[in-house]
Amino acid sequence: MNLPAASYLNDIYFDWGGVTQTASLLPRYGIQNPLVVTDRHLKALGIVDRTGLSDYAVFDDVETNPSESSAREALERYRTSGCDGLIAIGGGSPIDLAKIVGLMVEHTDLLASYAIVERGPAAITGDVPPLVAVPTTAGSGSEVGRAALITVRDGRKLGFLSPKLLPVAAVCDPELTVSCPDSLTAATGMDAISHCVEAILSPRANPVADVLARDGLTRGVRAIRQVRENPQSRRDREDMVWCSVLGGLAFQKGLGVVHALSHPLGRFEGLRLHHGTLNGLFLPEVLRFNANAKIEMKTVSNAVGGVDPASFFEDLLVALNLPSRLSDLGVTESHIQSSATLAATDHCVATNPRPFSEVDALNLYRRCL
Ligand SMILES: [Zn+2]
Repeated sequence: MNLPAASYLNDIYFDWGGVTQTASLLPRYGIQNPLVVTDRHLKALGIVDRTGLSDYAVFDDVETNPSESSAREALERYRTSGCDGLIAIGGGSPIDLAKIVGLMVEHTDLLASYAIVERGPAAITGDVPPLVAVPTTAGSGSEVGRAALITVRDGRKLGFLSPKLLPVAAVCDPELTVSCPDSLTAATGMDAISHCVEAILSPRANPVADVLARDGLTRGVRAIRQVRENPQSRRDREDMVWCSVLGGLAFQKGLGVVHALSHPLGRFEGLRLHHGTLNGLFLPEVLRFNANAKIEMKTVSNAVGGVDPASFFEDLLVALNLPSRLSDLGVTESHIQSSATLAATDHCVATNPRPFSEVDALNLYRRCL
Protein backbone atom coordinates (compact mmCIF):
# COMPACT_ATOMS: atom_id res chain seq x y z
CA MET A 1 0.00 0.00 0.00
CA ASN A 2 2.84 2.40 -0.83
CA LEU A 3 0.88 4.45 -3.33
CA PRO A 4 -2.76 5.52 -3.30
CA ALA A 5 -5.04 3.50 -5.61
CA ALA A 6 -6.60 6.78 -6.73
CA SER A 7 -5.99 10.45 -6.09
CA TYR A 8 -8.78 12.80 -7.05
CA LEU A 9 -9.89 15.09 -4.22
CA ASN A 10 -7.72 13.20 -1.73
CA ASP A 11 -5.51 10.11 -1.61
CA ILE A 12 -7.55 6.90 -1.62
CA TYR A 13 -5.70 3.80 -0.41
CA PHE A 14 -7.55 0.60 -1.27
CA ASP A 15 -6.20 -2.73 -0.07
CA TRP A 16 -7.31 -5.86 1.77
CA GLY A 17 -5.74 -5.65 5.23
CA GLY A 18 -4.60 -2.07 4.47
CA VAL A 19 -5.92 -0.86 7.84
CA THR A 20 -2.76 -2.23 9.51
CA GLN A 21 -0.69 0.31 7.54
CA THR A 22 -2.59 3.35 8.82
CA ALA A 23 -0.01 4.41 11.43
CA SER A 24 2.82 4.22 8.89
CA LEU A 25 0.99 6.66 6.57
CA LEU A 26 0.75 9.47 9.13
CA PRO A 27 4.20 11.10 8.63
CA ARG A 28 3.27 11.51 4.95
CA TYR A 29 0.47 13.83 6.05
CA GLY A 30 2.40 15.66 8.77
CA ILE A 31 0.61 13.98 11.69
CA GLN A 32 2.72 13.16 14.74
CA ASN A 33 0.21 13.02 17.56
CA PRO A 34 -3.32 12.19 16.38
CA LEU A 35 -6.62 12.03 18.21
CA VAL A 36 -8.37 8.80 17.18
CA VAL A 37 -12.16 9.25 16.86
CA THR A 38 -14.27 6.09 16.81
CA ASP A 39 -17.19 4.43 18.61
CA ARG A 40 -17.16 2.04 21.56
CA HIS A 41 -18.30 -0.95 19.57
CA LEU A 42 -15.44 -0.66 17.04
CA LYS A 43 -12.91 -0.07 19.79
CA ALA A 44 -14.13 -3.21 21.56
CA LEU A 45 -13.72 -5.14 18.28
CA GLY A 46 -10.00 -4.22 18.33
CA ILE A 47 -9.96 -2.10 15.17
CA VAL A 48 -8.01 0.73 16.83
CA ASP A 49 -5.34 -1.85 17.77
CA ARG A 50 -5.18 -3.03 14.15
CA THR A 51 -4.43 0.50 12.92
CA GLY A 52 -1.40 0.60 15.24
CA LEU A 53 -2.74 3.75 16.91
CA SER A 54 -3.88 2.48 20.30
CA ASP A 55 -1.08 4.35 22.12
CA TYR A 56 -2.53 7.71 21.07
CA ALA A 57 -5.46 9.61 22.59
CA VAL A 58 -8.76 7.94 21.68
CA PHE A 59 -12.27 9.45 21.77
CA ASP A 60 -14.79 6.61 21.44
CA ASP A 61 -18.04 8.27 22.48
CA VAL A 62 -19.60 8.94 19.05
CA GLU A 63 -23.38 8.40 18.83
CA THR A 64 -25.38 7.01 15.85
CA ASN A 65 -26.26 10.60 14.92
CA PRO A 66 -23.30 12.70 16.13
CA SER A 67 -23.98 15.78 18.25
CA GLU A 68 -22.26 19.07 18.94
CA SER A 69 -21.84 18.14 22.61
CA SER A 70 -19.79 15.01 21.79
CA ALA A 71 -17.76 17.05 19.26
CA ARG A 72 -16.96 19.51 22.07
CA GLU A 73 -15.87 16.67 24.37
CA ALA A 74 -13.61 15.31 21.62
CA LEU A 75 -12.21 18.79 21.01
CA GLU A 76 -11.33 19.07 24.71
CA ARG A 77 -9.49 15.74 24.42
CA TYR A 78 -7.70 16.98 21.27
CA ARG A 79 -6.51 20.11 23.09
CA THR A 80 -5.50 18.52 26.40
CA SER A 81 -3.56 15.79 24.54
CA GLY A 82 -1.70 18.34 22.36
CA CYS A 83 -2.86 16.65 19.12
CA ASP A 84 -1.90 17.81 15.62
CA GLY A 85 -4.25 15.71 13.48
CA LEU A 86 -7.26 13.37 13.52
CA ILE A 87 -7.86 9.75 12.57
CA ALA A 88 -11.51 8.77 12.16
CA ILE A 89 -12.32 5.06 12.28
CA GLY A 90 -15.90 4.02 11.61
CA GLY A 91 -18.96 4.74 9.55
CA GLY A 92 -20.15 8.20 8.57
CA SER A 93 -20.76 9.27 12.19
CA PRO A 94 -17.17 9.12 13.53
CA ILE A 95 -15.83 10.56 10.25
CA ASP A 96 -18.30 13.47 10.30
CA LEU A 97 -17.67 14.09 13.99
CA ALA A 98 -13.90 14.19 13.39
CA LYS A 99 -14.43 16.73 10.59
CA ILE A 100 -16.40 18.96 12.98
CA VAL A 101 -13.72 18.61 15.71
CA GLY A 102 -11.11 19.70 13.14
CA LEU A 103 -13.31 22.65 12.14
CA MET A 104 -13.75 23.79 15.76
CA VAL A 105 -9.99 23.86 16.49
CA GLU A 106 -9.67 27.32 14.93
CA HIS A 107 -13.30 28.30 14.20
CA THR A 108 -14.58 29.35 17.59
CA ASP A 109 -17.85 31.17 16.80
CA LEU A 110 -21.20 29.46 17.39
CA LEU A 111 -20.88 26.13 15.51
CA ALA A 112 -24.26 26.49 13.76
CA SER A 113 -23.12 29.78 12.22
CA TYR A 114 -20.68 27.88 9.92
CA ALA A 115 -23.45 25.59 8.52
CA ILE A 116 -24.36 25.60 4.82
CA VAL A 117 -27.78 27.14 5.58
CA GLU A 118 -26.20 29.94 7.66
CA ARG A 119 -22.89 31.69 6.78
CA GLY A 120 -21.73 28.64 4.82
CA PRO A 121 -18.34 27.68 3.34
CA ALA A 122 -17.22 31.36 3.03
CA ALA A 123 -17.01 31.57 6.84
CA ILE A 124 -14.59 28.61 7.05
CA THR A 125 -11.35 30.53 6.55
CA GLY A 126 -8.99 29.25 9.26
CA ASP A 127 -6.74 26.20 9.26
CA VAL A 128 -8.22 22.75 9.83
CA PRO A 129 -5.85 19.97 11.02
CA PRO A 130 -5.26 16.95 8.72
CA LEU A 131 -7.74 14.09 8.99
CA VAL A 132 -7.19 10.50 7.82
CA ALA A 133 -10.46 8.56 7.46
CA VAL A 134 -10.67 4.79 7.84
CA PRO A 135 -14.21 3.76 6.82
CA THR A 136 -15.46 0.52 8.39
CA THR A 137 -18.73 0.46 6.45
CA ALA A 138 -19.43 0.87 2.73
CA GLY A 139 -21.90 3.73 2.74
CA SER A 140 -21.44 7.35 3.74
CA GLY A 141 -18.63 8.25 1.32
CA SER A 142 -17.62 10.80 3.95
CA GLU A 143 -14.01 9.56 3.60
CA VAL A 144 -13.82 11.32 0.21
CA GLY A 145 -16.30 14.14 0.84
CA ARG A 146 -16.09 17.77 1.87
CA ALA A 147 -19.30 17.72 3.90
CA ALA A 148 -20.17 16.80 7.48
CA LEU A 149 -23.55 16.53 9.20
CA ILE A 150 -24.11 17.03 12.89
CA THR A 151 -26.95 17.82 15.27
CA VAL A 152 -26.17 21.25 16.75
CA ARG A 153 -27.15 22.57 20.17
CA ASP A 154 -30.52 23.97 19.09
CA GLY A 155 -31.60 20.50 17.85
CA ARG A 156 -31.18 21.03 14.08
CA LYS A 157 -29.22 18.45 12.07
CA LEU A 158 -27.07 20.73 9.90
CA GLY A 159 -24.66 20.23 7.01
CA PHE A 160 -21.20 21.85 6.91
CA LEU A 161 -19.23 22.16 3.70
CA SER A 162 -15.68 23.22 2.87
CA PRO A 163 -12.71 21.79 0.95
CA LYS A 164 -10.93 22.13 4.32
CA LEU A 165 -13.18 19.39 5.76
CA LEU A 166 -11.98 16.87 3.17
CA PRO A 167 -9.83 14.14 4.77
CA VAL A 168 -6.24 14.22 3.42
CA ALA A 169 -6.45 10.46 2.91
CA ALA A 170 -8.99 7.62 2.97
CA VAL A 171 -7.77 4.16 3.98
CA CYS A 172 -10.32 1.82 2.38
CA ASP A 173 -9.91 -1.77 3.54
CA PRO A 174 -12.76 -3.99 2.28
CA GLU A 175 -11.87 -6.57 4.94
CA LEU A 176 -13.26 -4.22 7.61
CA THR A 177 -16.71 -4.49 6.03
CA VAL A 178 -16.78 -8.32 6.04
CA SER A 179 -17.68 -8.48 9.74
CA CYS A 180 -20.52 -5.94 9.34
CA PRO A 181 -23.90 -7.47 10.27
CA ASP A 182 -26.21 -8.06 7.26
CA SER A 183 -28.61 -5.34 8.34
CA LEU A 184 -25.82 -2.72 8.57
CA THR A 185 -24.30 -3.77 5.23
CA ALA A 186 -27.74 -3.34 3.63
CA ALA A 187 -28.55 -0.01 5.33
CA THR A 188 -25.16 1.62 4.70
CA GLY A 189 -25.17 0.22 1.15
CA MET A 190 -28.51 1.96 0.51
CA ASP A 191 -26.90 5.23 1.64
CA ALA A 192 -24.11 4.79 -0.94
CA ILE A 193 -26.64 3.84 -3.64
CA SER A 194 -28.85 6.84 -2.79
CA HIS A 195 -25.82 9.17 -3.17
CA CYS A 196 -25.27 7.80 -6.69
CA VAL A 197 -28.98 8.11 -7.61
CA GLU A 198 -29.37 11.65 -6.23
CA ALA A 199 -26.12 12.81 -7.87
CA ILE A 200 -27.41 11.54 -11.24
CA LEU A 201 -30.73 13.35 -10.71
CA SER A 202 -29.11 16.64 -9.61
CA PRO A 203 -29.60 19.28 -12.33
CA ARG A 204 -26.12 20.76 -11.82
CA ALA A 205 -23.78 20.24 -14.79
CA ASN A 206 -20.90 17.97 -13.75
CA PRO A 207 -20.23 15.20 -16.30
CA VAL A 208 -17.31 13.88 -14.22
CA ALA A 209 -19.61 13.27 -11.25
CA ASP A 210 -22.22 11.73 -13.60
CA VAL A 211 -19.73 9.10 -14.78
CA LEU A 212 -18.67 8.29 -11.21
CA ALA A 213 -22.28 8.06 -10.02
CA ARG A 214 -23.32 5.76 -12.89
CA ASP A 215 -20.47 3.37 -12.22
CA GLY A 216 -21.06 3.48 -8.44
CA LEU A 217 -24.76 2.73 -8.92
CA THR A 218 -24.11 -0.17 -11.32
CA ARG A 219 -21.62 -1.74 -8.90
CA GLY A 220 -23.83 -1.08 -5.84
CA VAL A 221 -27.13 -2.52 -7.10
CA ARG A 222 -25.32 -5.65 -8.34
CA ALA A 223 -23.20 -6.28 -5.27
CA ILE A 224 -25.66 -5.36 -2.49
CA ARG A 225 -27.73 -8.50 -3.16
CA GLN A 226 -24.72 -10.74 -3.80
CA VAL A 227 -23.00 -9.76 -0.59
CA ARG A 228 -26.07 -10.87 1.35
CA GLU A 229 -25.86 -14.33 -0.22
CA ASN A 230 -22.12 -14.56 0.26
CA PRO A 231 -20.77 -12.12 2.89
CA GLN A 232 -17.20 -13.33 2.29
CA SER A 233 -17.17 -12.55 -1.45
CA ARG A 234 -14.16 -10.32 -2.08
CA ARG A 235 -15.38 -8.98 -5.39
CA ASP A 236 -18.76 -7.95 -3.96
CA ARG A 237 -17.23 -6.38 -0.84
CA GLU A 238 -14.83 -4.42 -3.07
CA ASP A 239 -17.68 -3.23 -5.28
CA MET A 240 -19.64 -2.04 -2.24
CA VAL A 241 -16.62 -0.06 -0.99
CA TRP A 242 -16.16 1.45 -4.46
CA CYS A 243 -19.89 2.27 -4.60
CA SER A 244 -19.42 4.22 -1.36
CA VAL A 245 -16.29 6.02 -2.63
CA LEU A 246 -17.80 6.78 -6.05
CA GLY A 247 -21.05 8.00 -4.48
CA GLY A 248 -19.07 10.20 -2.08
CA LEU A 249 -17.05 11.71 -4.93
CA ALA A 250 -20.15 12.18 -7.09
CA PHE A 251 -22.33 13.92 -4.56
CA GLN A 252 -20.38 17.12 -4.78
CA LYS A 253 -22.87 17.57 -7.65
CA GLY A 254 -25.50 17.82 -4.91
CA LEU A 255 -28.10 15.51 -3.40
CA GLY A 256 -31.89 15.83 -3.34
CA VAL A 257 -35.14 15.16 -1.57
CA VAL A 258 -34.22 11.66 -0.29
CA HIS A 259 -31.59 13.28 1.92
CA ALA A 260 -33.75 16.34 2.67
CA LEU A 261 -36.43 14.02 4.10
CA SER A 262 -33.92 11.88 6.04
CA HIS A 263 -31.94 14.61 7.77
CA PRO A 264 -34.70 16.02 10.05
CA LEU A 265 -35.72 12.53 11.24
CA GLY A 266 -32.11 11.85 12.27
CA ARG A 267 -32.42 14.49 15.00
CA PHE A 268 -34.81 12.45 17.21
CA GLU A 269 -32.44 10.98 19.76
CA GLY A 270 -35.05 8.58 21.15
CA LEU A 271 -35.68 7.00 17.73
CA ARG A 272 -32.00 6.53 16.76
CA LEU A 273 -32.91 6.23 13.08
CA HIS A 274 -30.17 5.09 10.71
CA HIS A 275 -29.47 7.51 7.85
CA GLY A 276 -29.05 4.75 5.23
CA THR A 277 -32.21 2.92 6.34
CA LEU A 278 -34.20 6.15 5.94
CA ASN A 279 -32.71 6.88 2.51
CA GLY A 280 -33.57 3.39 1.24
CA LEU A 281 -37.11 3.79 2.55
CA PHE A 282 -37.66 7.18 0.86
CA LEU A 283 -36.03 6.29 -2.46
CA PRO A 284 -39.04 4.70 -4.28
CA GLU A 285 -41.51 7.52 -3.45
CA VAL A 286 -38.95 10.25 -4.19
CA LEU A 287 -38.17 8.67 -7.58
CA ARG A 288 -41.91 8.86 -8.37
CA PHE A 289 -41.99 12.49 -7.15
CA ASN A 290 -39.01 13.35 -9.39
CA ALA A 291 -40.41 11.64 -12.52
CA ASN A 292 -40.10 14.98 -14.38
CA ALA A 293 -36.32 14.41 -14.68
CA LYS A 294 -36.89 12.08 -17.64
CA ILE A 295 -33.37 11.87 -19.11
CA GLU A 296 -31.69 11.37 -15.73
CA MET A 297 -34.34 8.82 -14.71
CA LYS A 298 -33.48 6.84 -17.85
CA THR A 299 -29.84 6.81 -16.72
CA VAL A 300 -30.90 5.42 -13.32
CA SER A 301 -33.14 2.88 -15.04
CA ASN A 302 -30.27 1.70 -17.30
CA ALA A 303 -28.02 1.20 -14.26
CA VAL A 304 -30.63 -0.96 -12.49
CA GLY A 305 -31.30 -3.24 -15.46
CA GLY A 306 -33.73 -1.25 -17.65
CA VAL A 307 -36.74 -1.46 -15.31
CA ASP A 308 -38.79 1.22 -13.53
CA PRO A 309 -36.40 2.56 -10.84
CA ALA A 310 -39.10 3.11 -8.17
CA SER A 311 -40.36 -0.49 -8.45
CA PHE A 312 -36.80 -1.79 -8.57
CA PHE A 313 -35.94 -0.14 -5.25
CA GLU A 314 -39.22 -1.26 -3.65
CA ASP A 315 -38.31 -4.87 -4.51
CA LEU A 316 -34.73 -4.34 -3.36
CA LEU A 317 -35.89 -3.21 0.11
CA VAL A 318 -37.89 -6.42 0.44
CA ALA A 319 -34.97 -8.57 -0.77
CA LEU A 320 -32.65 -6.89 1.74
CA ASN A 321 -35.18 -7.16 4.56
CA LEU A 322 -35.09 -3.39 5.06
CA PRO A 323 -38.13 -1.47 6.36
CA SER A 324 -40.37 0.21 3.80
CA ARG A 325 -42.65 2.11 6.22
CA LEU A 326 -41.71 4.84 8.69
CA SER A 327 -44.21 3.48 11.23
CA ASP A 328 -42.10 0.27 11.40
CA LEU A 329 -39.32 2.48 12.79
CA GLY A 330 -41.50 4.15 15.45
CA VAL A 331 -42.07 7.35 13.48
CA THR A 332 -45.48 8.97 14.12
CA GLU A 333 -47.57 11.76 12.59
CA SER A 334 -46.21 14.21 15.17
CA HIS A 335 -42.59 13.44 14.19
CA ILE A 336 -43.29 14.13 10.53
CA GLN A 337 -45.31 17.26 11.23
CA SER A 338 -42.41 18.80 13.10
CA SER A 339 -39.96 17.71 10.35
CA ALA A 340 -41.69 18.97 7.20
CA THR A 341 -40.46 22.59 7.48
CA LEU A 342 -36.91 21.41 8.17
CA ALA A 343 -37.05 19.05 5.17
CA ALA A 344 -38.27 21.81 2.85
CA THR A 345 -35.43 24.12 3.98
CA ASP A 346 -32.70 21.44 3.97
CA HIS A 347 -29.56 22.32 1.96
CA CYS A 348 -30.13 19.29 -0.36
CA VAL A 349 -33.37 20.74 -1.77
CA ALA A 350 -31.37 23.18 -3.93
CA THR A 351 -30.14 20.34 -6.18
CA ASN A 352 -33.35 18.31 -6.41
CA PRO A 353 -34.65 18.18 -10.01
CA ARG A 354 -38.09 19.46 -8.94
CA PRO A 355 -39.08 22.26 -6.52
CA PHE A 356 -39.96 20.91 -3.10
CA SER A 357 -42.26 22.64 -0.59
CA GLU A 358 -43.32 21.98 2.97
CA VAL A 359 -46.60 20.56 1.64
CA ASP A 360 -44.65 18.20 -0.66
CA ALA A 361 -42.54 17.12 2.34
CA LEU A 362 -45.59 16.34 4.44
CA ASN A 363 -47.23 14.44 1.55
CA LEU A 364 -44.12 12.34 0.94
CA TYR A 365 -43.65 11.62 4.65
CA ARG A 366 -47.31 10.53 4.90
CA ARG A 367 -47.01 8.33 1.83
CA CYS A 368 -44.08 6.58 3.55
CA LEU A 369 -45.67 6.41 7.02
ZN1 LIG B 1 -26.22 9.98 2.75
